[in-house]
Amino acid sequence: MRTFSCICGNTLFFDSVTCLACGTPVGWCPQCRAITAWIAESPQQYRCGNGDCGALLQKCDNYALENVCNRGLLAGTANNGAQLCDSCEYNDTIPDLSMPGNWQKWARLEAAKRRLVFSLDLLALPRPSRAHPLEGKEPISFDFKADVLPDEGLWRTTTGEGERVYTGHANGKITINIREADQLEREKMRLELDETHRTLIGHFRHEIGHYYWDLLVKDQCEDSCITIFGNHDNPTYQQALERHYREGPPGDWRNHFVSAYASMHPWEDFAETFATYLDMISALDTASHMQLIPPVDIRSASLTAMMDSYRRLGIAMNEMNRAMGLIDYVPELFIPPVVGKISFVHDLLRDNAVDDR
Ligand SMILES: [Zn+2]
Ligand SMILES: [Zn+2]
Ligand SMILES: [Zn+2]
Ligand SMILES: [Zn+2]
Repeated sequence: MRTFSCICGNTLFFDSVTCLACGTPVGWCPQCRAITAWIAESPQQYRCGNGDCGALLQKCDNYALENVCNRGLLAGTANNGAQLCDSCEYNDTIPDLSMPGNWQKWARLEAAKRRLVFSLDLLALPRPSRAHPLEGKEPISFDFKADVLPDEGLWRTTTGEGERVYTGHANGKITINIREADQLEREKMRLELDETHRTLIGHFRHEIGHYYWDLLVKDQCEDSCITIFGNHDNPTYQQALERHYREGPPGDWRNHFVSAYASMHPWEDFAETFATYLDMISALDTASHMQLIPPVDIRSASLTAMMDSYRRLGIAMNEMNRAMGLIDYVPELFIPPVVGKISFVHDLLRDNAVDDR
């Protein structure tokens, strides 16, 4: 992520809601696509403090009323009375806020989603919503839901019969079990599943990978995808899933896949590779902005140059993390089959970049 500047010169961050130096409210301006100081014009309207922009802004309802967002809308562009920003407008289901702890989980989910939206815009990918549809394309939407299970003292439940919520994607709808926003629960699952990383942003990057398979590969370039990732129709997803949970990943998965889970089925391989690609471009954009590496333009740099830069950054960052006793920053090894898959994702996304966002 990048950092931004307040009108007073202080540094602002992607999640900032006020400038800690001068106290001015701040937020994301959709016109200049930055976190800027917001100068109050009236009780509900603000002027973007970026002198080159000056857009008239209103707070997203989830900023003004719920405190889980820091984005604005251009004044007068609210849809049907709902005043939700270009990240919050994807929500179909939010956690039950009467349950203790759910507001905090929701805030973490929204923060991760805004970072996802930033990286999709970095790649200029189409990201239709129901409020801003694209002809013939399934809009993206999100359900943030909790398991509804008998209370075992581990997890508070809502009313009704048991329902287990599976994190996943189907027809544009991304469902995330809000348990993933609980750090203890997530780390427990990471260790149980022997994963190198398990993060909220990682879930968003993986699930949106399934969405873009549907949007950009399905009925369009499935044959070339099959040559790289294997046949997604044989075995079927269900057969592959059952085998994976019965037998586990093949012993030599490291020779072919970016993660053990990627070996489950070509669709999971694509989603894991997609998530790895988003990890890479987000790390490179951050490092480039922070002047840790030579400047990288994510829209135009060659994949070879980006992977080379990421490899060198990864070695340095892994050592930085080890110096602090943290897990490796870049755990993956980019062996030739994985490079081939990343290359497919890279070309696919470059070919489908839509505008100058
Ligand atoms: Zn300031
Ligand atoms: Zn602005
Ligand atoms: Zn919002
Ligand atoms: Zn998946």
